Amino acid sequence: MKEIEDVLDDKFALISQNVDSLHKKAGNSEENTFLIHGDHDFMRCGDECSSELYPFPKEIELRNRKKDQLTEEEIKILKCPKCGEDLRPHVLWFDEYYNEKFFKKDTVLRISKETGILFVLGTSGETTLPQVIAKNVLAKSGMVVEINIADSYFSELLKNKKNRIIIRSESSPFLTELKKEIEKQVIALYNKS
Ligand SMILES: [Zn+2]
Repeated sequence: MKEIEDVLDDKFALISQNVDSLHKKAGNSEENTFLIHGDHDFMRCGDECSSELYPFPKEIELRNRKKDQLTEEEIKILKCPKCGEDLRPHVLWFDEYYNEKFFKKDTVLRISKETGILFVLGTSGETTLPQVIAKNVLAKSGMVVEINIADSYFSELLKNKKNRIIIRSESSPFLTELKKEIEKQVIALYNKS
């Protein structure tokens, strides 16, 4: 995904449900990456006294992230520096709502209305925001490409639509091919001008 971003630059947006820093590790830029389910590398105030994000303390190892396994010392570290409330993981929990402040809801909806082609990879579409994103792209006559090994919410949504492609494949081989194709197109454009 990083190589594709490198080629497309600001014409690229990565909207992801991944919370495990996958895209950061891959090298995708912060400006073009929208983590709509949050990021496990950050904590925030459980009382939302501010919208500040705090890096997960390095002193606490990954295996200790479940609160019942933390020592008293570690629990003390996990307090909001501003108000002293417990910090909480900066991720969307199942009974919570998307918002702009933490999950860039308005931003990604705006992007979806300007999107010429949306690739839906590795998601079954069980949450509302990705569903609305795909519907917005279709409504503005954009193309939606679903890449999935099995049927999903999106397969159903795309049924009988003109501007759609459904590809039954794993994500990685598809992305490799897509990257090659985008590069070819960009080179052709340069040669023309
Ligand atoms: Zn606080």
